[in-house]
Amino acid sequence: MALLETKGLTAFYGDFQALFGVDVSLSEGETVAVIGANGAGKTTLMRSISGVIAQAPGMVRFEGREIGATAADDIMAAGIAMVPEGRKLFPSLSVEENLLMGCHRRKVNGPWTLQSVYELFPILKERRDRPGTALSGGQQQMVSIGRALMSNPRVLLCDEISLGLAPVVIKDIYAAFPQIRATGASIVVVEQDIGQAMKVADRVYCMMEGRVTLSGAPADLSREEIHDAYFGTA
Ligand code: ATP
Repeated sequence: MALLETKGLTAFYGDFQALFGVDVSLSEGETVAVIGANGAGKTTLMRSISGVIAQAPGMVRFEGREIGATAADDIMAAGIAMVPEGRKLFPSLSVEENLLMGCHRRKVNGPWTLQSVYELFPILKERRDRPGTALSGGQQQMVSIGRALMSNPRVLLCDEISLGLAPVVIKDIYAAFPQIRATGASIVVVEQDIGQAMKVADRVYCMMEGRVTLSGAPADLSREEIHDAYFGTA
């Protein structure tokens, strides 16, 4: 049984339909990447899973239970944590206070504590009393990931964590993923960087114009297939 799955997922912004029958699944311990160009619907998919966009019943299941109509806070408390696009740190709070906000709604014992997050990203310990937003973009992204981990999630949703960061910083951030995986968390990363997605993921979904156009293990997908699924055939 999939840990998390969507079936025939649709999403609307007013009259505008952003998703058209999206089926994706995530197994226990798996890392899945969702790739696609600007506007393909990747963020909408993440928002639908995390409850930011309410869904019709029957379209999103987590641990075998229907969560499509569940409020975002309750989904978080159930074990799905989001690293949102744009990081969304609390500007008036310090690094440490931002991290602590992550376990505000879900208090479960697990591998992630302030101490283990600081071991994962040592620079955050050095800067723990600074305002979160005074950090560099890459360090802010580390805070955002650490904040999500603080809830000891079963599923970690990461929306475009590479966006606007230098390649060397992206490498540093992805270097943390093997340790996150080793704790047993299942992960979804949304990426525009195809190469990065292929490196980190067990399986990849490609989206275009609100639909899944391709899926499979990176080793089974050819460059041409990915190109066509990402940009469309001319
Ligand atoms: P990006 O990489 O730009 O974030 P994306 O693949 O995440 O792209 P979405 O942000 O999910 O794509 O957007 C899917 C479609 O929905 C786009 O056509 C976008 O313009 C539209 N859309 C997204 N958010 C809204 C909104 N709040 N109101 C209206 N339309 C929206």
